[in-house]
Amino acid sequence: PTWLGVMGGGQLGRMFVHAAQAMGFKVAVLEPARDCPAGQAADYLLSASYTDPVALNQLAGLCAAVTTEFENVPAQSLAQLAAHSFVAPAAANVSIAQDRVAEKRFFTECAATSHVLPAPHKVIENEADIDAIPDDLFPGILKTARLGYDGKGQVRVRSRDEARKAFQDMRSVVCVLEKMLPLAYEVSVLAARGADGESAVYPIAENVHRDGILFSTTVPGPNVSAECARRAQHAALAIIGKMEYVGVLCIEFFVLQDGSLVVNEMAPRPHNSGHYTIDACITSQFAQQARAMAKLPLGDVRQHSPAVMLNILGDIWFENGSPGSDMPREPAWDKVLALPGANLHLYGKDDPRRGRKMGHVTFVAPTLTEAQENFACACRILGIPL
Ligand code: ATP
Ligand code: MG
Ligand code: MG
Repeated sequence: PTWLGVMGGGQLGRMFVHAAQAMGFKVAVLEPARDCPAGQAADYLLSASYTDPVALNQLAGLCAAVTTEFENVPAQSLAQLAAHSFVAPAAANVSIAQDRVAEKRFFTECAATSHVLPAPHKVIENEADIDAIPDDLFPGILKTARLGYDGKGQVRVRSRDEARKAFQDMRSVVCVLEKMLPLAYEVSVLAARGADGESAVYPIAENVHRDGILFSTTVPGPNVSAECARRAQHAALAIIGKMEYVGVLCIEFFVLQDGSLVVNEMAPRPHNSGHYTIDACITSQFAQQARAMAKLPLGDVRQHSPAVMLNILGDIWFENGSPGSDMPREPAWDKVLALPGANLHLYGKDDPRRGRKMGHVTFVAPTLTEAQENFACACRILGIPL
């Protein structure tokens, strides 16, 4: 059998393992934590740090190709793996996505062909940079250049003084101050590019965030115009092509109240907003990643059913419990699964915590309205306010 490798042991790795195994591949996971969602499913778990040279050699020796399931795997490790194995996406691509400064610079370089720009922003490396922020970037959001996710590592600032304080609170790591934009809604586009240079783009997804974490994804998005979809898909293809990227890439965009499109960030891997592809598209984002890595032709990205995905956070285990009780209680999956078109995906995590992604459920239906109705029923069953 052909082995594929994954750096990282989270749920994205787990769903990749399942998809790759279904295609006949064996999958090895490198992850320091012994009990991890991807490790439970993998054919082989290498429990080692992402930078352990012995483990990296072993992974590269075993696997025809290696990918990464979370963007903060040191790019240096991917470069090391590339000496003995095909690494997709490449270290150079991942390192751009790991750093908001490099990412925004790259998006700006792409603008001639992508026709989208990032939010107005300024790189903040020291106090003097804060003094030099143009007034019209306030109110803004100060974001750490590296390691932020799910809204962590960012602070909303109304003034220069607040920005100064927030920068100090972040221990003066390199940040980006972005202008706060009047969002109408948020969308993301999954693109894929094969080793042969062919690329494909999935239908555009409309995303709702709560407390900085993805709450739901609806495809087709009820707010998305055909023109907006065309522009975002065009931009995603321009960006993935410019990088000569191999694999699945997700790009997040803001749609502003005046209808204009702004590129926010990208994830060099399958993405939470692409989970709908498992149940609603001919080729899931995870099967697509396996194809790209194995230098196979890309799969069909067509969507066969409207879909609404609900993220299942650990909070649900507590809000269902009796008031005042800290004991987690298993949600009523039997009732959720009784809804038409429900596909439940749980990630094998046995300690629910607030804000922790435990799983997701996707509703597919012949019409978007039906999928939305079943999604709303699930929210009621799970005690999630709409
Ligand atoms: P992710 O988990 O998607 O990687 P993240 O922590 O990297 O999230 P962003 O995606 O940059 O952070 O921002 C999180 C959310 O904050 C966005 O989805 C959006 O709702 C809001 N937001 C971010 N930047 C802006 C902005 N410039 N103007 C308005 N809202 C913004
Ligand atoms: Mg991010
Ligand atoms: Mg984001």
